[in-house]
Amino acid sequence: MSKSLQAIRGMNDILPEQTPVWRYFEGTVSRLLDNYGYKQIRMPIVEFTELFKRSIGEVTDIVEKEMYTFEDRNGDSLTLRPEGTAACVRAVLEHGITGGGQVQKLWYIGPMFRHERPQKGRYRQFHQIGLEVFNLDGPDIDAELIIMTWRLWGELGIRDAVKLELNSLGTSESRSRYREALVEYLSAHHDKLDEDSQRRLKTNPLRVLDTKNADTQAVLVDAPKMADYLDDESRAHFEGLKARLDAVGIPYVVNPKLVRGLDYYSKTVFEWVTDKLGAQGTVCAGGRYDGLVEQMGGKPTPGVGFAMGIERLVLLLETLEQIPEEISRQVDVYLCAFGEEAELAGLALAERVRDQLPNLRLQVNAGAGSFKSQFKKADKSGALYALILGDDEMAQQVVGFKPLRGQGEQQSIAWDALAAHLATCVVQG
Ligand code: ATP
Ligand code: MG
Repeated sequence: MSKSLQAIRGMNDILPEQTPVWRYFEGTVSRLLDNYGYKQIRMPIVEFTELFKRSIGEVTDIVEKEMYTFEDRNGDSLTLRPEGTAACVRAVLEHGITGGGQVQKLWYIGPMFRHERPQKGRYRQFHQIGLEVFNLDGPDIDAELIIMTWRLWGELGIRDAVKLELNSLGTSESRSRYREALVEYLSAHHDKLDEDSQRRLKTNPLRVLDTKNADTQAVLVDAPKMADYLDDESRAHFEGLKARLDAVGIPYVVNPKLVRGLDYYSKTVFEWVTDKLGAQGTVCAGGRYDGLVEQMGGKPTPGVGFAMGIERLVLLLETLEQIPEEISRQVDVYLCAFGEEAELAGLALAERVRDQLPNLRLQVNAGAGSFKSQFKKADKSGALYALILGDDEMAQQVVGFKPLRGQGEQQSIAWDALAAHLATCVVQG
């Protein structure tokens, strides 16, 4: 196929055989979020470039080299959103729904765009489910976010494969005191740092803590520790969070090097990490960003949130084979009809059954065909039962009911009794 007719590298089709897992995942998360009292918000996929520069920060990987930015026909600089927090903050400010201290517990789902090197678990269009809470500043809500994800991992059967890492970045004041100490220390070891870290030392020194380079990691062993610079309030907040996680029995490790890629975090930061996906191991990441709303022109408004990568979580479900069998079956019953008269009767019968069993997944054969070919299609559809309408059934006003998986003989069911019969043998989702 010519290149122009192919999808863009790193931007994937999600094919019909994959969508059941996606829908299972998305359905599980959205039900959970409903149950905890979170409300969905939907923002545009494109925003003014300035929004991301202002919120994410100019010296982050995202803004420096990952954004899809273009000029539209008006000459405005627009960007495909690389993450959801910026647009969410813009939306709540624009509509005034966090004013006067109103609490908002919001979530969103959708595609994000970053020009990264595509590899397993890292794409240029990827999908996140994200969540933001405004106007709650205590560790209780930080804990709720983590407890909720812990429950999610449990429901999905992947709890044993993920590990929680926690850190506190303090307030912006304590962080800047720490940053100074770190810069002083790292500058004294400048020659032993890798090139990337030398550059970050000037632009975004906390990110040096994030390095994968072994030599730089060796230098970091004796570097000043963020924990020693925490202000009292942040320290109490962090202890409050840990006490709540302990109360619920959620294991965690404090990782003093956890800083997160984005500039706007303060106090709590956390990541859920797995070792089952190779290098792209972070499946959910978030933290508190008490200064962000103000930085974006609003009144001081505490905020906390997280985002999870759907591709990585789907991959994890597949890797761990934690996909419930029933989600890939999309047909309960397949109706075969032979001859024109039976086809018309079959259609009407199917609609009457749907009236009574709105959740029944009933597929009516299309494209006619011999007994053999319709039966083959019924079997291939994955249906549990075939319904058969031929000359004999038409004469008696019955339908043949044939189990396709497992035991049981074919039986005849009167048309009027069909819905009631199906209700007893098909568990409807
Ligand atoms: P990473 O360190 O893996 O680049 P990040 O810190 O850039 O992640 P966030 O901005 O915190 O990621 O996004 C939250 C989550 O979204 C990540 O933990 C990950 O699961 C997912 N994610 C981020 N970038 C990608 C991508 N390019 N492809 C697929 N998933 C991604
Ligand atoms: Mg990244």
